[in-house]
Amino acid sequence: MDCKEALPLLHEYLDGGLSAAQSSQLKEHLLGCADCRARLQEYEKMEALVHAWTPPSVPDDLTEKIMRALPPVKRHNALYRFIRKHPAASVAAVFAMVMLSSFLSTWNDDQVLAVKGPDLQSVVIKGDTVYVPAGSIVAGDLTVENGKLQVDGDVKGNVVVIDGSVNYASTAHISGQIKQIDEVFSWAWYKMNAWLAQVSDVK
Ligand SMILES: [Zn+2]
Repeated sequence: MDCKEALPLLHEYLDGGLSAAQSSQLKEHLLGCADCRARLQEYEKMEALVHAWTPPSVPDDLTEKIMRALPPVKRHNALYRFIRKHPAASVAAVFAMVMLSSFLSTWNDDQVLAVKGPDLQSVVIKGDTVYVPAGSIVAGDLTVENGKLQVDGDVKGNVVVIDGSVNYASTAHISGQIKQIDEVFSWAWYKMNAWLAQVSDVK
């Protein structure tokens, strides 16, 4: 079994719908595939989140909190009315749909190391690690996606690490802000916002 075949089985597994044969096939794949193990962990986190958001009986103020946490939606449209009527179910449905579609369609293709910034001359890339060597200066912002960043020198700007880790030596100087983004979550929020905007524009 390859990862493509394992992916739908992971979802089935979380729904408890796997046959004994499928389940042992999936287990076998998981034993040999760190990527899918990590994926399963993410899904389980998501599941826990969705469950946390939809307790069997939702107290009124919690419902209100969930409503407020949702991106603003134009009043007087069908979606808004539906959400008002079924707040907890809607949040869970939207959230699950967004998670599923973003994972299935784009998540897998997007794991390439990327380095962005106006001044990358002194930046060194080795394997999945991006180095700012001691004594060197990056004159501007530095963004690293899907990799590790090791700063030994100076960054005259903001440092942004998306889906990666960052390590600063004692010789490092960062003049701007340091921001670490876990893209699983920001991506989900981005997709959810985009989806809601789309739906609420349809009259
Ligand atoms: Zn796999």
